[in-house]
Amino acid sequence: MDRIQIADKEFEIFLENDQICKRIRLMAIQIGVDYEGRCPVFIGVLNGSFIFMADLLKELTIPCEATFIRVSSYQGTESSGTVREIIGITDNLKDRDVVIVEDIVDTGLTLSYLIGELRQQAPASLAVCSLLLKPAALITKMDTMQYVGFEIPNEFVVGYGLDYNGLGRNLKHIYRAKSGA
Ligand code: 5GP
Repeated sequence: MDRIQIADKEFEIFLENDQICKRIRLMAIQIGVDYEGRCPVFIGVLNGSFIFMADLLKELTIPCEATFIRVSSYQGTESSGTVREIIGITDNLKDRDVVIVEDIVDTGLTLSYLIGELRQQAPASLAVCSLLLKPAALITKMDTMQYVGFEIPNEFVVGYGLDYNGLGRNLKHIYRAKSGA
């Protein structure tokens, strides 16, 4: 399926599931090497990261913990730029190696807010692992961004956990909005 319609928008295939899974295997190998002998806590940022988090953690062979938080800052296809909700930072992260797992980093505002919040718990280390990054959209400096699956153009994408107005998260591949659509 090269093209799909979600609500009022037409999307075309951008990254196939095979390609995504291959990249995730490499990311997991790198993380496994970097965290050898440690037991990091992976914090998935809901909702978008749920598939990526599952696939990434299945590829990891080091001992680790997994938890999720939720930050809602987005509506439609444009970033509102405001963080409205953070739910779920309940675990004690003091002296832990923390890896934030994101589906996509766009402006970086959500992530920098999150990093600020998590740093207050004095973790031993804090890293970010994002499947996608839109470098052209970044408006914050990201020195914690250690693991990036794919750098992509500044276009709206959907699938593999990412939604368009709540729809499309279940799609295996990642699609991008057709220009002019
Ligand atoms: P930021 O705060 O970096 O601008 O936005 C981060 C959040 O916005 C992501 O976690 C994701 O939920 C949402 N987002 C940013 N770009 C896209 C996109 O192209 N597609 C979808 N579906 N969500 C996006």
